[in-house]
Amino acid sequence: MLRLTTQSKIILIYSFLAAVIFNYTLVEKVLEIYPISSGGLTFIISLLILVTTINALFLSLISNKFTLKVVFSAFTLIGIYSSYFAYKFGIIIDDVMILNIISTDAAEASGLLSLDIILISIFAVIAVFIISKVKIPFENLKKEAIARLMLLVCLPLVMVGVIFLNSAAFASFFREHKEIRYYTNPITPIYSTINLLHENLTSDKRELEIIDPAPYAKISYEDSDYELVILIVGETARSDRMSLNGYEKNTNPYTSNIKNIISYTNFWSCGTSTAISVPCLFSYTNRKDWKKDDMYLRENVLDTLHKQGVYVEWRDNNSSSKGVADRIPYLNYRNADINPNCDIECRDIGMLDGLETVVKNHPNQDILIVLHAMGSHGPHYAARVPDKYKKFFPECKTNDLQSCSVEEISNAYDNTIVYQDYLNSLAIDFLKKFPERDARFLYISDHGESLGEDGIYLHGYPYRFAPENQKKVAALTWAPQGSDIHQYEVMKMKHEELSHNNLACSLLELFEVDSAICSDFQSIFRN
Ligand SMILES: [Zn+2]
Repeated sequence: MLRLTTQSKIILIYSFLAAVIFNYTLVEKVLEIYPISSGGLTFIISLLILVTTINALFLSLISNKFTLKVVFSAFTLIGIYSSYFAYKFGIIIDDVMILNIISTDAAEASGLLSLDIILISIFAVIAVFIISKVKIPFENLKKEAIARLMLLVCLPLVMVGVIFLNSAAFASFFREHKEIRYYTNPITPIYSTINLLHENLTSDKRELEIIDPAPYAKISYEDSDYELVILIVGETARSDRMSLNGYEKNTNPYTSNIKNIISYTNFWSCGTSTAISVPCLFSYTNRKDWKKDDMYLRENVLDTLHKQGVYVEWRDNNSSSKGVADRIPYLNYRNADINPNCDIECRDIGMLDGLETVVKNHPNQDILIVLHAMGSHGPHYAARVPDKYKKFFPECKTNDLQSCSVEEISNAYDNTIVYQDYLNSLAIDFLKKFPERDARFLYISDHGESLGEDGIYLHGYPYRFAPENQKKVAALTWAPQGSDIHQYEVMKMKHEELSHNNLACSLLELFEVDSAICSDFQSIFRN
């Protein structure tokens, strides 16, 4: 007789519970758009049935007598953490976010540590313990196989039925609000992980040599003076929080009176996270064509400059160069042995230490110093800024952003912009000490940040759905009077639409390196 075994019933019950418990944010987002009063309840019920069938189908496919408890435990853990981050910060765990999680170091991860996370982790341990102790009777192989087959045949039929009965609602809803389906937990993070593993296993990057995308680049021999360029790669700085761009609070008190400083008002990032934006910023590939393999397989603009004899040094007070500085001198400033400005954490301004010596040691050479700053890295904004540089109060003093008011979060965040502004002014003051050099200062943030708008915090939202404040970034440039590129030319670019993709060739332009790869590009310095 055809019947479901206890094991199959448990899969169904667990799938339903997981659909209900781990998808609070999904349901909340749907109800915001489609309230119960306009028929939202029927839609939510069909959606939860659909998620239950997807869960059950997945679990039926990959679990057996021996793996069932391990699979349930992993599913539960992923469900708990992904639904927590969705609820708390509006975060979607897609493949880019998984890449971020993998490239996060212990210091960054500890920035997220809070009482909530500890409680959630205790809950997770208890859940896994219960799963390990529950007795699941297994019937003979034939009965289990028949029951499993029934699930694999019936579940797709139920899915098709649910979608068919609500086809109009599903089609219109997910066409208009594509991003909401990514809140389906834990299926989205599981699917994304499988996707990422598949990509990695099928790409044979170890056998490929690193490609030089600009093999015929040539530095101009007519370049008589030596360049000295400081490029600060900022962290999490939004364009609209710069008073230089019209923000009502004075967040740029240190640079606003500097002559020749230009703040770009329409500058867009390549990604919404450090792991994507930083390598993409230095690559020659456009955002849409850029793949994460590029950072391993292709040289970047720093390699080109280095090969042309420019002294390029990367100083990092953030997580790492994300592969950009693999072939050039790299110094880690999150280390009190070399960073003289460490208190509760090592400060970005410490990266300026000893730069005079670098210039003195390379008297007849072009120099590019890249400083990778910690900037406005959240969620604990208040920790990024020493007290004496704070201007705006009351500020959110914790990483538990939901316990703070909108104003407190804003103040804490804006203080990080002020402190970054201080670093920028120090870097410009440093460049002014070398009038014999052709100096240039650049500051470009890697991505922006959500500060609770529409229930979304932090960054890393899928690019195509991400709000503008995660993609429109702070970007500055400065040069002394009489620079090779006249400032009035640069000024024309202030409001032009520019992006991270414009940096690589603009750097070659600064160092007067010609390359066919830059034959058709938009400079950030002139039209
Ligand atoms: Zn970042």
